[in-house]
Amino acid sequence: MTVLVRPQALADFKPREFQMLIDGRWTNGAEGRIIERRSPAHGTVVSRYQAATGADVERAIQAARHAFDKGAWPRMKGAERSNILLKAADMIAARAEELAFLDSIESGKPISQARAELAGAVDIWRYAAALGRDLHGESYNTLGEGTLGVVLREAIGVISIITPWNFPFLIVSQKLPFALAAGCTTVVKPSELTSGSTLVLGEILMEAGVPSGVVNIVVGTGAEAGTPMTEHPDVDMVSFTGSTTIGKLTMANAARTLKKVSLELGGKNPQIIFPDANLDEFVDAAVFGAYFNAGECCNAGSRLIVHNSIAEEVVSRIAELSKKVRVGDPLDPGTQVGAIITPEHLAKIDNYVRNAAGDGADIVHGGAPLDLGLGQFMAPTILSGVKRDMAVAREEVFGPVLSVLTFDTIENAVDIANSIDYGLSAGVWSRDMDTCLQVGRGVRAGTVWMNTFMDGASELPFGGYRQSGLGRELGRHAVEDYTETKTLNIHMGPRTAWWMPR
Ligand code: NAD
Repeated sequence: MTVLVRPQALADFKPREFQMLIDGRWTNGAEGRIIERRSPAHGTVVSRYQAATGADVERAIQAARHAFDKGAWPRMKGAERSNILLKAADMIAARAEELAFLDSIESGKPISQARAELAGAVDIWRYAAALGRDLHGESYNTLGEGTLGVVLREAIGVISIITPWNFPFLIVSQKLPFALAAGCTTVVKPSELTSGSTLVLGEILMEAGVPSGVVNIVVGTGAEAGTPMTEHPDVDMVSFTGSTTIGKLTMANAARTLKKVSLELGGKNPQIIFPDANLDEFVDAAVFGAYFNAGECCNAGSRLIVHNSIAEEVVSRIAELSKKVRVGDPLDPGTQVGAIITPEHLAKIDNYVRNAAGDGADIVHGGAPLDLGLGQFMAPTILSGVKRDMAVAREEVFGPVLSVLTFDTIENAVDIANSIDYGLSAGVWSRDMDTCLQVGRGVRAGTVWMNTFMDGASELPFGGYRQSGLGRELGRHAVEDYTETKTLNIHMGPRTAWWMPR
């Protein structure tokens, strides 16, 4: 059995009330409708947001448009923008505990993990601030006596930023500071399930000196608030993180006005393990990769592709370690796996496991929801004997469910890894660097970890191949992603007239 940490009721908890941020003012929605968020671990209402209607989104887009076309932000020196972003980073660090608490109670993620995400986010804001100062184009002094070529990088304009519920503060931090560093203005829509920390970020940015209208934050459902953000002719680019299904819809909506899109979508990431790997290190990474954030993670290592010769030992060691994983109250600092985001999502995870068992997979550990008295939880689950055509091996379960498949040659392992529609990330484990590199080159994924899993750094680009997305976040080109390229073709001296006979 897994170690259970029963949720303590949030007695006398006073829900936090939020307004939305439009043109520098905190305001109610046009219709005064409220969205309530309950803690998925405790059942208590923890946040109330104003729901945005189409009219609110229109106001937010117009505020961002005006701030871009007429305002100070895109016209400021890079150093001035950078200093404001650095101030914001310090203020995020100062309010990290409050932000981590909000992310934990709204999403169900363990508080210890939420704190680590906040520390990572602060680093990203600082990194983006530094990049913003260094944004520059190119010049060509090699085009002949009479020509000088200057290539400018200009802020692209108004950006719609749409984020999911699984890493509320971290994901907005992978987008917003880079867009701001480039000089863009924005309308941000967090998931309606986890909007709290993004709204607090709005307070921070106003206080740090971001001018009115540069960052607007609306809360609402995808259909009502998200759709106009992807379709509106006054929006120049959409930066979206979420499911592949909604990512495709976003791209189709944006195509009607030919907006640039950046998409960070789903994953079904393999960890490939060879017999010469350090098994102790791998077993820990396999458990971490599968259960981190309750598996509600685009990067989850949800497919284990293990060499036939060690499959039995690997599965039994992972099952042993799974018994020690602490599941339950996200507010307990010792908890490693928190609650599942909604009852509907828990039912979906449960269904995947039941169907896999029906199709012939073996449940080696867990296999069902856990009743902890309050909230909704899923037992960390291991399925062995999974075949590559089963739904559980091909689709994103988004729960703490590990599918084990086997291979016999490197080619076979790479083939299995590449046999699905996703290509976000992968892990390979071997003491032989040749093996790691062969797999690293062969796997079609945006990140390949070698003898580690799910490490990250602000300097390293992140994004997906195939149906895992389009474009890259983080890394030194992240600010450039929010720019247009303009050529200045400059003529010097007398110009040869066109009509002159040659
Ligand atoms: P989702 O696609 O349901 O929602 C994401 C966001 O889009 C939310 O803010 C939602 O309100 C909004 N939305 C929904 N319908 C919309 C529409 N028609 N138009 C515009 N916006 C709309 O995803 P989710 O359930 O919130 O998040 C989980 C998904 O996100 C998973 O598939 C996961 O893999 C993916 N994800 C990817 C990454 C990555 O970096 N690749 C990171 C985290 C999560």
